[in-house]
Amino acid sequence: MFENQPSGDSSDPSQTCTAAVFHGAGRPLQLQSFPRPVLRAGEALVRVRLCTICGSDLHTLKGLRIEPTPSILAHEVVGEIVDLAQPGPRDLDGKPLRRGDRVTWSICVSCFDCDRCRSGLPQKCRRLVKYGHSVAEGREALSGGLAEYMLLRPGTAIATLPRGVPDEVASPINCATSTIAAAYRAAGDVDRQRVLIFGAGMLGMTAVAMGKELGATQVAICDVDQQRMTLAERFGASDTLTVDSIASRNASFDVILECSGAPEAIEASCQLGDVGARVILVGSVMESRPVQLDPTTIVRKWMSIAGVHNYAPMDLRNAVDFIARSHHRYPFSELVAKTFDLSDVNAAIDHSLEHRPIRVAVRPGASTPW
Ligand SMILES: [Zn+2]
Ligand SMILES: [Zn+2]
Repeated sequence: MFENQPSGDSSDPSQTCTAAVFHGAGRPLQLQSFPRPVLRAGEALVRVRLCTICGSDLHTLKGLRIEPTPSILAHEVVGEIVDLAQPGPRDLDGKPLRRGDRVTWSICVSCFDCDRCRSGLPQKCRRLVKYGHSVAEGREALSGGLAEYMLLRPGTAIATLPRGVPDEVASPINCATSTIAAAYRAAGDVDRQRVLIFGAGMLGMTAVAMGKELGATQVAICDVDQQRMTLAERFGASDTLTVDSIASRNASFDVILECSGAPEAIEASCQLGDVGARVILVGSVMESRPVQLDPTTIVRKWMSIAGVHNYAPMDLRNAVDFIARSHHRYPFSELVAKTFDLSDVNAAIDHSLEHRPIRVAVRPGASTPW
């Protein structure tokens, strides 16, 4: 049966697996052996096919955000179901999952019973659990993506992935793509509207492509990195703007998605929003200086400012549909610069921190193309 602590000396390799364990900022991840859990009702065990390292993981590794230790980081994962409890979980369509299904799943597991869940904000559940953000102890230790296997808890929103979508493209679905789906849901209809995106990272690239697909007539992007803005053009950006050029162009927008977290971008948003504009703040997940807003501008323009953090199962559904429908029109697979073995996980992190590509991936074992 299941032991409470990771054990490095278990004698039966089929009952154990390897995970890269985070013991604190600035320290290399350590490969440790964990027992494979015996499943309980509603749970599934997945083999990690591919895991991409997100900006938030890098923040944790650098000590810019605090996570419990020891923990298994990373939440952007494509997995293959290898074991299911009885009764087992179903996918977002209510279909029973089967061994061999290729899946992704919501970062957040909600109780669907507390006041916040009942009021339509399951992503801010009072008993929320987030994959890749929990202490690696007990029978639920395998909760992060930098591992050979992960345990999916009961209540996890699980999406079956369509054939033809490469693992590299599917992996960020449950983070950046779903977050942007949530941001557009908060923004309302963007059909035939002018959209501005601040920040040309994974969120921003996705936001540009999704804005195009949602029918926006203009999707402009603003970043300090010219190379990334050039890449954003291949995702459909109609205008690439620097903070300086925005001020001089006297442009205005109906929807602004702020994905950079820069206070200057939030301040500029109030100037750049037209009458009735919706400004959605997505990137401000780290502490920053307070921003200065002119309330009379917001009042006179009937502007709305909303924050989006985490996402609901319906956003994961929309994200999977978006990627399934349109991934071949955009260079999503190029966003993963390099793929490393799990045994080279520290090299993957060093590469990420040094070269700052949009994503690097870790592949714990050989997987056949899907
Ligand atoms: Zn992420
Ligand atoms: Zn809840």
